Amino acid sequence: MYPWLISTFEQLAKRRQANKLHHALLLQGPQGIGKTDFAKQFAALLLCAKNSQGQRCGVCHACLLQYAGNHPDFHEVLSEKQIGVDQIREAIKKLSGSAQLSGAKVLIIYAAHTMTESSANALLKTLEEPTANTFILLLSHKVERLLPTILSRCERIIMTIPDTTQTQAWLNTQWDKPVDAEFVRLYASSPLTLLDELQQEHKISYEVFKAGLQDIIQQRVNPSQLATDWQEQVEKILKWLQFWLHLQVKSRAELPETLWQLHQQAIKAVKRVRNPGVNKVLVLNQLLTDIAMLKSLKE
Ligand SMILES: [Zn+2]
Repeated sequence: MYPWLISTFEQLAKRRQANKLHHALLLQGPQGIGKTDFAKQFAALLLCAKNSQGQRCGVCHACLLQYAGNHPDFHEVLSEKQIGVDQIREAIKKLSGSAQLSGAKVLIIYAAHTMTESSANALLKTLEEPTANTFILLLSHKVERLLPTILSRCERIIMTIPDTTQTQAWLNTQWDKPVDAEFVRLYASSPLTLLDELQQEHKISYEVFKAGLQDIIQQRVNPSQLATDWQEQVEKILKWLQFWLHLQVKSRAELPETLWQLHQQAIKAVKRVRNPGVNKVLVLNQLLTDIAMLKSLKE
């Protein structure tokens, strides 16, 4: 278990032992924090036939089936884009009978906010009146998109977000090369995303990004060239730019108005490119051009 999630896990495990666990849990927290692993491990604990020490025993029939990935009372719903009503109906059907292994039944719904309205409505009755010993774990990094009727029927479990120190400590156990401290701060609340970014070497690294910015600030390269080079990952680059400008703003005792405006512009750009039909490269190009023009950054 990830260090920042251990205490939450232990609390839930204790409540399970005391039979004081709500049957519908909404695990909420940002992407890249470990919700999926948490839910899978907790499901394994719920399904374990022994479950005496707040941990799965690892040797009972239920545990062995879970390791093998074919426990008959463990169900999952996930979708690339949207969870359709048929997926939910099918899952409910599986939960409706008695458990095949005479233990608990568990359903995990990943990215629950992607349920359509009819999917959510189809789930309501099950959330209200679940069959005995049934647990439903809903995961979401966008709970504001869930219907109030769903929210009111779940107990919200807010995943603990690690701070920069915790993320750095964990990263040290996963990655043996030096990492820019700024980059760790940028992804501090999403350690798994941070590690994923580091592992994908074909992507633009934060070092390359910062070097590119220095190149346009020092007029060694044309902003439009950089915007073209980075066009595959505009949304990410804009987020990095927003963060980088935030650091520039914070590091100055006297803040030039233009720099503050540029930071605001970056925040807007991040939002703008979420809309379909927006020319993302153009948005990036504009921001990079404005950065290149800003004299205060040259100092
Ligand atoms: Zn077991």
